[in-house]
Amino acid sequence: MEMLKNQTEKKNFINEDERRARLDKKNERARAKRRTETELDKRKRLEKRNEKDRARRREESTQDKKIRLGKRKLISSEESPQKRVTRLEDKSALQKKHIQNETAVQRVSRLAYVSTLQKKRRAAESSEERAIRLEHDNTFKKKQLESESTEQRTARLEHISNIQKKRLDTESAEQRDARLEYVNALQKKRLDTESAEQRDARLEYVNALQKKRLDTESAEQRTARLEHISRIQKKRLDTESAEQRAARLEHVNALQKKRLDTESAEQRAARLEHVNALQKKRLDTESAEQRAARLEHVNALQKKRLDTESAEQRAARLEHVNALQKKRLERESSEERALRLQQMRVFQQKREAVQNMVQSDDDSTAPLLQQTFARTRMMKFHEELSSIDFNICSVCLETFSGAKMTKSTICQRCCRDKKDPKLYSTNNNMDPGEVPIELQVSTQ
Ligand SMILES: [Zn+2]
Repeated sequence: MEMLKNQTEKKNFINEDERRARLDKKNERARAKRRTETELDKRKRLEKRNEKDRARRREESTQDKKIRLGKRKLISSEESPQKRVTRLEDKSALQKKHIQNETAVQRVSRLAYVSTLQKKRRAAESSEERAIRLEHDNTFKKKQLESESTEQRTARLEHISNIQKKRLDTESAEQRDARLEYVNALQKKRLDTESAEQRDARLEYVNALQKKRLDTESAEQRTARLEHISRIQKKRLDTESAEQRAARLEHVNALQKKRLDTESAEQRAARLEHVNALQKKRLDTESAEQRAARLEHVNALQKKRLDTESAEQRAARLEHVNALQKKRLERESSEERALRLQQMRVFQQKREAVQNMVQSDDDSTAPLLQQTFARTRMMKFHEELSSIDFNICSVCLETFSGAKMTKSTICQRCCRDKKDPKLYSTNNNMDPGEVPIELQVSTQ
């Protein structure tokens, strides 16, 4: 008995250092094992441990349980606030260290576990608990945002943008559709419920943003932007239905009307100047084909208008034309007047010549030029002739068909002549004056 006691004491004494060393070794072995254990092994191990704990608690007596919980309570009540902070800080530092050293697999597993835990907790929380949690989260987030440095902010936004970009790059067509639908619904809801102040603030913000973008964009960006807009617009126009088209035009017209109704005198002047400059530029640079196409289009349009106009519209149009002509006549110079009268005389002579031909009746015994078929053909010829527009050159006073004239009232020959005075001009004594009466009669 004495020997046994001695032996135990001796063993205790000898083993105090040895015991620690052995424990350390054991712990180290366990840690090494854990470092290489698979996820499945880990789960099994923890499950086993938890089951052991649960079993122990199931078996413990009420007295033991009371002692256990009381101890815990005692510890937490005895702990000073300072001690508590230190303890939590230590715990948090340890946790941080673990997180820094964990492998990628460990990280994924930890996050999955945390996320499951969180989900479970949130599912069980009451509405009050939820409110408290959200408020706490928001306060925390707000505090974090307020205290972050510019670099941190940049890094955070970059991180978010990267995640977003990655998501957008890898999303399927269905995911994309679903996302856009969701975003649109959200936006619609926001727009539907925003107040007038919110709306004003939003528009102001959007405009400022747009202005800033436009102010800072490079020439390439501008070109790319305009090209993009034009492509979208073209696509829209190509695929719009008749109703959509009608609605669009109505909208555009209403918008334009509103603009015209509210524009100031300066705005109006500026607009007209701009439009005129644009038109002049177009006319100056158009090719012969473009010109022909334009005139044909204008004529067709005019013809259609004349064909479908009502009596009132016709009266209004003529009144307008007359007023315009009156105004023009009042303003024309003596040279312009002379030119106009001369053009009218030429036109009158042609008409009289045609009328003279159709005055007498058919006579097959009459000279050829007085027979009906010859007259009819000649009449047709003169009709054709009178359908051609003639212009008088204001320099050489020669008459040309419209095609031979430049855009002004000067013929191509006189236009090319850069001498002063021009060769065929009145200033060079090339105007023979009024045509004598005997030469004015048209002959066949
Ligand atoms: Zn000329």
